[in-house]
Amino acid sequence: MRIILLGPPGAGKGTQSQFLMQHLGIVQISTGDMLRAAVKSGSSLGMRADAMMQTGDLVPDDLIVDLVRQRVQETDCVGGFLFDGFPRTLAQAQALKDTGIKIDCVLHIAIPNSEIINRLAGRRVHLASGRSYHIVYSPPKQENIDDLTGEALIQREDDREATIKKRLEVYQEQTAPLIDFYRQQAAQGEVACCEISGVGAVEEIQRNMIAAIDAATAK
Ligand code: AMP
Repeated sequence: MRIILLGPPGAGKGTQSQFLMQHLGIVQISTGDMLRAAVKSGSSLGMRADAMMQTGDLVPDDLIVDLVRQRVQETDCVGGFLFDGFPRTLAQAQALKDTGIKIDCVLHIAIPNSEIINRLAGRRVHLASGRSYHIVYSPPKQENIDDLTGEALIQREDDREATIKKRLEVYQEQTAPLIDFYRQQAAQGEVACCEISGVGAVEEIQRNMIAAIDAATAK
């Protein structure tokens, strides 16, 4: 099973990816997590990406496409994978199509902007695992501490309000057009495409996601 999770920043892609990974037994490929690891390691890719990530801009397509191309060749991807945060531009989506990698399902998580700002500004993450919490809706047991490892949680630089607004603009301009791109492919039977609401209880969203994937891939 190969899935693309599409949706604005703050739609819950990270949380839902972790669930889908376990439920479907596939690996998560988060380009955002890969870039943050590159920044942390001080690699040349990390140094190039750092400033763009902090301002909420997108990292150039060629860097991302290379990163993903290498990642999908690793052995753990054989059983399937889930793209979280990729593709984010039409050029990336076209490059993915050109690789010939067949995608089974594009799942679009839809959510209003007002909800996004509220969610992202309260988000705290455990960097090593990608686990995320919300200071009001899903707080850790102990303030600013990851429940499983006892390590500190952080607020991502790009989760500050000015950067969130910029990321939403970037999403509208560059990533939202992918919804139509995949709808057109779905109309030609090349991929299944479905939309679910990202608002509501996490368990309910998970149930809707599984039902949508089952229905889409059964066709
Ligand atoms: P995310 O964790 O997916 O929200 O990504 C954080 C940041 O990493 C984004 O705001 C971009 O600067 C960069 N990034 C992640 N994935 C991509 C991508 N597919 N294309 C370009 N930039 C990306």
